[in-house]
Amino acid sequence: MDRFSQGLPDPQEIECEPLCCAACLCEIEPGDSIWNCGGDICCSADCAARHMGAEEGTAGEA
Ligand SMILES: [Zn+2]
Repeated sequence: MDRFSQGLPDPQEIECEPLCCAACLCEIEPGDSIWNCGGDICCSADCAARHMGAEEGTAGEA
């Protein structure tokens, strides 16, 4: 499975959902724990890192 190969998001969904993850665009429900990336909301640390341009790597191999 490749999380990066998802299709373009439906434009209607972007307009109608005030709270969605800035990285994976999934819905965020009230009460869910979120990561605030300078005003952009992400659903997980993984998404927050991706949204900020961070990439996971291995020390010594970068
Ligand atoms: Zn996400």
